[in-house]
Amino acid sequence: MTPLNQVWQHVEQTYNNGNLYGFRNYGWDQVMANRGYLNFCVRWDSTTTVTATQRDQIHATLARQYKKWMDVMVGHNAWPYRDVPVRVVGWAVRDRNQLQWSDSSVDIYVNNIRENAPQCSEPCGRFFNQNGQYPNCPGGAARHYDQSLWLTDGFGGGAGGDWGQRMGREYFMANLNADNMHILLHEIGHTFGLDDFYDWTPSGVGGFLMRAGSANSITEFDAWMFRDWWRHLKSRYGY
Ligand SMILES: [Zn+2]
Repeated sequence: MTPLNQVWQHVEQTYNNGNLYGFRNYGWDQVMANRGYLNFCVRWDSTTTVTATQRDQIHATLARQYKKWMDVMVGHNAWPYRDVPVRVVGWAVRDRNQLQWSDSSVDIYVNNIRENAPQCSEPCGRFFNQNGQYPNCPGGAARHYDQSLWLTDGFGGGAGGDWGQRMGREYFMANLNADNMHILLHEIGHTFGLDDFYDWTPSGVGGFLMRAGSANSITEFDAWMFRDWWRHLKSRYGY
């Protein structure tokens, strides 16, 4: 069996308590529901301040890293989008004074604490409205968010899923200009269903991003695993 097929067989046998095909909130579902873009909330789980310049840098970095995964799909197996824009529509913070801008380019949510961290309005969140309807979001569907970029002071490593990506605020801010922000890239992989490889390795495959610690960028093998998710899910979108 090819390494790629080994991976998919493992996914089918272990994923999501057998709900692999029933789950409807993969990154794939989100991109397709929006017809080709993703909206974000930044959860500023930090005591530090943010300038307007830093706000825009955080957005630009998120978009640049995200594009590395989306570019893997261009021209592949009927994938319909050449570009998947990443927008930041909201910021969640404990204290409004931490955000050093006065313009209204993003919605701001103050001291809405969930999981001991600031959270954007739940009625606007895809995680809480998986049917894709946002009747109680103040800005309507246009201001909904699909994922959260959750930056936490002193957080080691990362976490990722359909809800977004979480990592250390210090790590993110120190790597704004990095070519490959490997923790973010790895966690975005999880958002699109990719697994960890803590306890097994596909035959004959060397280092790759989703095998944490063995690569710092998206490898050919990561790219093919990513495409394989689309290959297995695309029929649900009529492709
Ligand atoms: Zn992981």
